[in-house]
Amino acid sequence: MEKTIFEKIIDREISATIAHEDDRCIALHDINPQAPVHLLVVPKDRIARLAEADDAAAPLLGHLLVVARRLAAELSLDQGYRIVINNGPDGGESVPHLHVHLLGGRRMAWPPG
Ligand code: 5GP
Repeated sequence: MEKTIFEKIIDREISATIAHEDDRCIALHDINPQAPVHLLVVPKDRIARLAEADDAAAPLLGHLLVVARRLAAELSLDQGYRIVINNGPDGGESVPHLHVHLLGGRRMAWPPG
């Protein structure tokens, strides 16, 4: 299976600004930021999207949120932030490798576009 852009970043075949890395995930700055802070928390083991994560992935999914919460605290997003997971075509997914968006540094609108 062809590597996703995130697998190439994890394997250091493509450069990215990395904010965090551990044994289970990597967090990088989005190349096309939609807010002053826009990070992507990506599991190293590829899961295409949330819909394809099985129940056994629950600890990993929780870890992604814990990492996002820690990064938000480190970046002093004290006024709040938004966590987004785009799933499938209607969800606006463009990279078929599960990732959690952490957006902050500005007031978000609701409903999302
Ligand atoms: P999705 O639309 O799948 O939820 O989010 C994919 C995100 O990956 C987009 O926000 C897009 O800007 C980001 N992205 C795509 N290619 C690259 C890349 O090569 N480097 C980085 N840092 N982000 C990327």
